[in-house]
Amino acid sequence: MDRILNGKVALVTGASRGIGRAIAERLGRDGAAVAVNYAGHAEAAQAVVAQIESSGGKAVALQADVARVPEIVRLFDQTLARFGKLDILVNNAGIMFTKPVGATTEAEFDRIFDVNVKGVFFACQQAAVRLADGGRIINLSSSTTARFMPHYGAYVATKGAVEQLTRSLAKELGPRGITVNAISPGPTDTELFKDGKTPEQIRQFAQMAALGRLGQPGEIADVVAFLASDAARWISGQNLRVNGGLA
Ligand code: NAD
Repeated sequence: MDRILNGKVALVTGASRGIGRAIAERLGRDGAAVAVNYAGHAEAAQAVVAQIESSGGKAVALQADVARVPEIVRLFDQTLARFGKLDILVNNAGIMFTKPVGATTEAEFDRIFDVNVKGVFFACQQAAVRLADGGRIINLSSSTTARFMPHYGAYVATKGAVEQLTRSLAKELGPRGITVNAISPGPTDTELFKDGKTPEQIRQFAQMAALGRLGQPGEIADVVAFLASDAARWISGQNLRVNGGLA
């Protein structure tokens, strides 16, 4: 079967659950060989690999904590050793907490920046030197960066950094035909989003979208698949807000 990403190799960070899992499975269905990165949940990552293989695709589960630069380097080494090249990097791994700025500890600040900013920056650094010409970098930001929401200070600071890095790197890698874009989901039905929220709070978030519901991980993955495809070759340095019309 002729699939849109046939012959491409993708690396998706934090791909054992949630949006990352949906992205890995979608890119696999589209024909890409997929490196499924996970931090700790080996069994869940293997289930993603099995799912991709059952639809006729190629995949491998690779453990690495993206907050640690040597582990990012190893992740790229292993991806290239296994599949011979890399065309698509999706920086999906991320963590979130909500807390007043006044109550946020230095350790909490360091951890969220280590995963959400340092992890993305140094994965982009590896991609900058090791991604094939004509490749794709897709970074997960968040629609919270465009809203005035209390208690998201540390999280929006990390995602704002991701958006700025995206714009600068797009210019840096453009001469090699590599596009660099961000995707900013709105409230999406995952563990990260639901954690610590009451059913009533979840309902209120759902109502913020013009479409009146939460997004599904597959609806984010569809847009990643578009940006990864040849159809999106003229889109770079952009931030696509994929949020059902969040107001
Ligand atoms: P999730 O918690 O369900 O999944 C995140 C994945 O990242 C998990 O598999 C986790 O193990 C992994 N991860 C965390 N730290 C890691 C590390 N140090 N190294 C490797 N992997 C690590 O979250 P999700 O909702 O699927 O979010 C995915 C991305 O989308 C995140 O960047 C998040 O900020 C962003 N996002 C989510 C929403 C939402 O509403 N769910 C909205 C906007 C943006």
